[in-house]
Amino acid sequence: MSLRVRLTLLYTALVGGVLLLFGVATLQLISITLINQVDAILEETAIETIQDIRVNNHGELTVLPNPNLEFAANVYIQVWSRDDDLKESSINIRWLEKPLDARGRQIAKPIFRDSTIEGVHIRVLSVPLMIGDRPIGTLQVGASLAIVDATKSRMVTTLIFGVIISMAVAAIAVSFTTYRSLAPLNSVTQTALHITQADDLSRRIPYQGSPDDEVGQLIHAFNQTLSRLENLFHAQRRFIADVGHELRTPLTVIKGNVSLMRRMNIIDEELIGSIESEVDRLTRMVGDLLLLAQAEAGKIPLDHRLVELDTLLLDVLQQTKILAQGKINIHIGDIDQVLVCGDHDRLKQVFINLISNAIKYTPEGGEIVVGVGKVKEQARVIIADNGPGISAEDLPHIFERFYRTGKSRTRTQDGKGYGLGLSIAYWIVRNHGGHIDVDSKVGKGTTFCVWLPLADEECSVHPKT
Ligand code: ADP
Repeated sequence: MSLRVRLTLLYTALVGGVLLLFGVATLQLISITLINQVDAILEETAIETIQDIRVNNHGELTVLPNPNLEFAANVYIQVWSRDDDLKESSINIRWLEKPLDARGRQIAKPIFRDSTIEGVHIRVLSVPLMIGDRPIGTLQVGASLAIVDATKSRMVTTLIFGVIISMAVAAIAVSFTTYRSLAPLNSVTQTALHITQADDLSRRIPYQGSPDDEVGQLIHAFNQTLSRLENLFHAQRRFIADVGHELRTPLTVIKGNVSLMRRMNIIDEELIGSIESEVDRLTRMVGDLLLLAQAEAGKIPLDHRLVELDTLLLDVLQQTKILAQGKINIHIGDIDQVLVCGDHDRLKQVFINLISNAIKYTPEGGEIVVGVGKVKEQARVIIADNGPGISAEDLPHIFERFYRTGKSRTRTQDGKGYGLGLSIAYWIVRNHGGHIDVDSKVGKGTTFCVWLPLADEECSVHPKT
């Protein structure tokens, strides 16, 4: 059963139920009020009539002439003696010889009961007549309930029609409203089906309604999921293409060199050296990819210890200075003593990647400044260069796997990098509970800031993302 049908049935039943309950309660209230009115008239007539009833010396009942008996139109009166003699009755039922309410004559105190006389539904008040404790007869006063019954039956008819019409209106209104509200969900379903069938993640669900209602929010969330899936899908495709490309180049070189040696039937040291360097490059790349996969899965094995960032940085600078070959000036800026809790070798890898990038991309004669300090309860390492900078277009992507800006793509032909260094640095820092900021202006230079949490006293619990 569709949601629309279910909602329609539920609301229709609810409207019908509530109206029925309300109608029955009203009907009950009105009939009680009407009966009370009839009872009040009967009571009043009974009191008046009792005043005219006498008992003679023989203990017999007599009734004085009473206008109630002569002119009564809507009220029926009977006076019965103890030995079942009808002593008096009102003019409108003189022909009736049986009591208005047979069972009412056996009672010891006044009682109101419904009764039917010759097919007429009446209300009867039976009052026992007593002298002291001795019963001497019964007075019965009755009135027709025809008007009360007619009113009740009219109300029941109105109620039934009212409930049916209200239920029909509710059903139409709910069905129409749910149709309109749920219509966009059909388009969600259609889009989802289309995506599955056509493998087209570029589609988005259009929605004209308010973006703040439930359906609008659902569609917004669905569209966001689609965008994310599309990005992931493209990233995965690009990644496979990039890996393929990166693997093919060294493999082609290796194969070419091996074929050459076979054809020449000699073992050439230079060709073997070239093969070795390509194999090294491949090994490095596969190692980096594995590390990246582990880091992205949050499963990078980290050996948490106290690390003196200042000492670590000086050590890295010492190592990377060789890369600069004296062509680039490396300055040591503010170096404070800063302790963090982390994996010494992994952190070293982060700073090697960042500093060697700065050296790699800064042209001869350029400058690099490296510093470390504490800012707002965090450790901050700055690596700034005055190299070519990174364009605003490339900046958001530089931490993506295999991403290289236009210029560096050509430079990698000489085997310098393959666009994994920053991804690895990013993930290592993330796994240490920190983050990397980058600020760059084309032609002016680039500044990387690595933020890490300061070491706690015991360097035990470490935040991981
Ligand atoms: P690569 O192995 O190509 O250096 P990275 O992931 O380390 O890969 O860097 C990604 C890209 O970011 C580089 O190709 C380069 O274009 C850009 N980049 C990184 N560091 C710098 C820098 N200091 N100055 C200019 N560009 C940089």
